[in-house]
Amino acid sequence: MSISLIGLDADDTLWHSESHFVATEQRFMELLSPWIESEEAASHLLETERENLRLFGYGIKGFTLSMIETGLAASDGQISSAALGEIVTWGKELLAHPVELLPDVVETIDRLASVGYRLALITKGDLFHQEAKVAESGLADRFEAVEILSEKSPANYQRVLDRMNVSAAEFLMVGNSVPSDVLPVVELGGQAVHVPYHVTWGHERAEGERGNWHELSSIAELPALLGQ
Ligand SMILES: [Mg+2]
Repeated sequence: MSISLIGLDADDTLWHSESHFVATEQRFMELLSPWIESEEAASHLLETERENLRLFGYGIKGFTLSMIETGLAASDGQISSAALGEIVTWGKELLAHPVELLPDVVETIDRLASVGYRLALITKGDLFHQEAKVAESGLADRFEAVEILSEKSPANYQRVLDRMNVSAAEFLMVGNSVPSDVLPVVELGGQAVHVPYHVTWGHERAEGERGNWHELSSIAELPALLGQ
């Protein structure tokens, strides 16, 4: 591989994220249990989140508003104001949750930097929250660039590569989401490494032609894949 720039996704690649959403979703399903079954509540919420993405973008604020909207619809307006207040509190708790790095992240990043790779953190979602997490992670100084995109589209990746003066052939993206971290980069002619997280948000699940990218079970395996 003639890679010069490595892009690293953040949520569920460098630090835990989706597991916190899942825990909140469990509480949400319990809250709606007087009106609908858990599975129905989960699928209703996912559908609402998807519909709201183009208005709210990714992140906890949109998730919180989607829980409120789903609660109102699923209870036919019967959900109490106290319960709605509880949902708002969950959203704030999620936003205030400390950053918990995944195992081997720091060692792997330092190893890759020490052998000369340029590193970029490439994430998407709520600018304010993502910036806060990057700062809190203590990892910011290890990256030449921190890119927070509204959507991980091929065009947005290309803009990052142009800014960093790197061709797609020299670019490797590492992340937990096939639709966000793998497929758009492969489409551009870059390389991608999928490192699955133990839970995946419904919207980030996708099938693709396996074999067009690498699969690792841990980020710690990345230096070896690169021959380092
Ligand atoms: Mg991710």
